[in-house]
Amino acid sequence: MFSTTLLDWFALNGRDLPWRHTKNPYAIWLSEVILQQTRIQQGMDYWLRFMQRWPRVEDLAAASEDEVLREWQGLGYYSRARNLHAAAQQIAANGSFPNTLDGIKKLKGVGDYTAAAIGSIAFGLPAAVVDGNVYRVLARHYGIDTPINTTRGKRLFTELAQSLLPTDQPAAFNQAMMDFGAIQCTPASPKCVLCPLQESCEALRSGRIGELPVKEKKLTIQTRRFTYIYIRCQGKTAIRKRAAGDIWQGLWEPVLTDDCGMLSGAKLLRKDVKHVLTHRILLADFYLLETEAFPALPEGYIWIDESELDQYAVPRLIELLHEAVFSNPHK
Ligand code: SF4
Repeated sequence: MFSTTLLDWFALNGRDLPWRHTKNPYAIWLSEVILQQTRIQQGMDYWLRFMQRWPRVEDLAAASEDEVLREWQGLGYYSRARNLHAAAQQIAANGSFPNTLDGIKKLKGVGDYTAAAIGSIAFGLPAAVVDGNVYRVLARHYGIDTPINTTRGKRLFTELAQSLLPTDQPAAFNQAMMDFGAIQCTPASPKCVLCPLQESCEALRSGRIGELPVKEKKLTIQTRRFTYIYIRCQGKTAIRKRAAGDIWQGLWEPVLTDDCGMLSGAKLLRKDVKHVLTHRILLADFYLLETEAFPALPEGYIWIDESELDQYAVPRLIELLHEAVFSNPHK
């Protein structure tokens, strides 16, 4: 139902683009590479110029990289042009354009999406394309809230797209998905009122169009550095309790300092001890200060007997510090 409706829609509304009048894999590949980060109208001029100047992949392969970059100028993302040129040379050296998905994927700069597009359109291979348009259309129509930028989401949407692809019409289906996402089921204001899938669309039924597809927020991983000093003085050591609103709330730790003065006379036990938390990496240096006279402590610390240390709960990082301290022979 979904696929038939989509193909019917495409027959009436599909975009008439020059590279859609050919099965030449080179021409199709060129269009896909140009359109990766470029709007269709601007990309079309470049595609026409490239095809005119280098009508066959062997012509492009024989050009110099400078010439290709010059022709590419204005499109940006120049690695695309460099990869295109290098892949043209790969194809020329092999004698023909690869006609299997694996073969196409071996071309420089070609990933799953481009390989499926070339494979299906030029060679009729039954491979579904999956890009932002496809995620959006499928997430909305089927009401799927699995985040699209997770491994699980990628697999789920790829399998779904693949299961919907009519194996006898892979080219039309893939182009229909691309156009449907670009024209009908657009990101900000999909034209649901005129949509042929409105009756079966789960997002429309449940009022979740604005929420789908879901993207998981990427946590930014920060690195924080800590310097801990374990002070040993007349059988005692100094600790404090971590305050509320802290990941280690209620746990105890030795003196944490960024004051170099406190480190004078202290011995470095371990450097850059790494502790990985969900959204933070801690790098800690451990020092041991053995002294006969009680030093002044920063606010909040108390002296306890070293022999009672194991009555105080500490985070894993501090366990590591204790291991370093107690494996270190007393002065
Ligand atoms: Fe997209 Fe709206 Fe059609 Fe659903 S009804 S597929 S949200 S355009």
